[in-house]
Amino acid sequence: MTPKYIFFTGGVVSSVGKGVTAAALGLLLKERGFKVSVQKLDPYINVDPGTMSPYQHGEVFVLNDGAETDLDLGHYERFIDTPLTQVSNFTSGQVYAEVISKERRGDYLGGTIQVIPHITNEIKRRIGLVAKTTGAEIVLVEVGGTVGDIESQPFMEAMRQMNREIGRENLFFVHVTWLPHIGATGELKTKPTQHSVAELRGIGISPNMIIARSDHPMEQELVDKIALFCDVEKRAVVPMTTTKTLYEVPLLLEKTGVADFVIEKLGLKASKTPKLGEWKKLVEKVKKDKPTIKIALVGKYVELQDAYMSVRESLRHASISLGVESEIEWIHSADLEKGKRLDALKSADGIIVPGGFGTRGIEGKILAANYARENKIPYLGLCLGMQLMCIEFARNILDYENANSTEFDLNTKDPVIDLMLDQRDITDMGGTMRLGLYPCVLKKGSKAAEAYGVKQVEERHRHRFEFNNAYRDEFEKKGMVFSGVSPDNKLVEISEIADHPFMVGSQFHPEFLSRPMRPHPLFLGFVKATKKKAGR
Ligand code: GLN
Repeated sequence: MTPKYIFFTGGVVSSVGKGVTAAALGLLLKERGFKVSVQKLDPYINVDPGTMSPYQHGEVFVLNDGAETDLDLGHYERFIDTPLTQVSNFTSGQVYAEVISKERRGDYLGGTIQVIPHITNEIKRRIGLVAKTTGAEIVLVEVGGTVGDIESQPFMEAMRQMNREIGRENLFFVHVTWLPHIGATGELKTKPTQHSVAELRGIGISPNMIIARSDHPMEQELVDKIALFCDVEKRAVVPMTTTKTLYEVPLLLEKTGVADFVIEKLGLKASKTPKLGEWKKLVEKVKKDKPTIKIALVGKYVELQDAYMSVRESLRHASISLGVESEIEWIHSADLEKGKRLDALKSADGIIVPGGFGTRGIEGKILAANYARENKIPYLGLCLGMQLMCIEFARNILDYENANSTEFDLNTKDPVIDLMLDQRDITDMGGTMRLGLYPCVLKKGSKAAEAYGVKQVEERHRHRFEFNNAYRDEFEKKGMVFSGVSPDNKLVEISEIADHPFMVGSQFHPEFLSRPMRPHPLFLGFVKATKKKAGR
């Protein structure tokens, strides 16, 4: 059977929730009994976001197979709850790299290599891989950026070609736009939407549906106007006002009837009636007044909260399930080094030190770990956060005052965190870390084992450095428990402080596996301890 494709393009401005919309529609289709998969096309030239600054790109979301992907894949996995693979995200950089390497091999037999057809063919081949590898009946494809961007043109052209090649009945185009609000007159304006639809038409694509995002409720009159000016059916104009919680989006979309409209247009029949009971319960819980706990998130990209998207969501999942509201205090670690924001740190009920790279702000995070340990404040260290909790322990409990990671001090006398053996000869930065799912055996009786309630788990990784085994015995003697290790016992995966209510660090990133309906055990353990500490 030919798979059906739903394409999502953006108009007017980016960052209006195209990814969440695609993810929510994917969920509604899955709930109707369809096998769905999702893909994100990123028009930039980088091969993947792995080497990009979080300031430019936000979080890098890691998949089971180790692919370093766009943060929208996090939304897809959290909503649709099926593990994705590397075929679900590609960039212009990957497309060009593939075509150029074929050209160098002589595969094109002397032909002139052009955007059409060579680049567009490679784009179509990669879009086709999703259904081929997953057996999906419906593939939702989100195109990054907004219509009109120079670098997204080959993607648009590839979609236009697919329209002809696989037939209009197998494709559905959703255009997600933004309606600006004019304060002086209190009006929402549709003109930018009209222009972006005109631009899309100029490329040869007519949208089947327009999702009009705005911060203000939209009158029927405006829906009618967009339908008329943009030449779509009235029921295909979907107003989507910003919600209090992301997890309400599927419920709002369901109310508008979009999923039924889409399957009708694609000539499909649902085999199940969607049951969104657990999503309703979740949203009710979010909206209910709850006691608040204060969490300090000590990082170095805190100006752009998207850099910690999955950490924030994981914290939310655990908090909702435990009936508390987590208020995040975003603390720049470099501020702590200058003696600033200490009050914010001290007023927190729990502290998270998330992942990161490079020297800047490291001492501030170590200071946070020190504060958490000495004052018995619940602490969750994620990857770098675990490494720093070990460095702090070495400096202040084992009296190795210059203990460090060789990432930050190559010549440290006490490299308690050091480069992994198989990382030593690597010179390329892209895609060369220890990436993806690896098993971890838990130590009986530890806090980690108690949180997970099983003997072995698999978690997603993204790191080059590890705990230096030469120091294991000394650490253990002084009260550090290595509560999670690789099955061959060569790599420390989780460390925790024995004499502490909850000070746990993981070398992996638990935040990539937390789901709204299945909060991650380590986040649950952390929030539980924090709630207790705060007396809530
Ligand atoms: N920079 C550290 C390493 O490479 C930690 C990485 C991370 O936090 N993801 O090991």
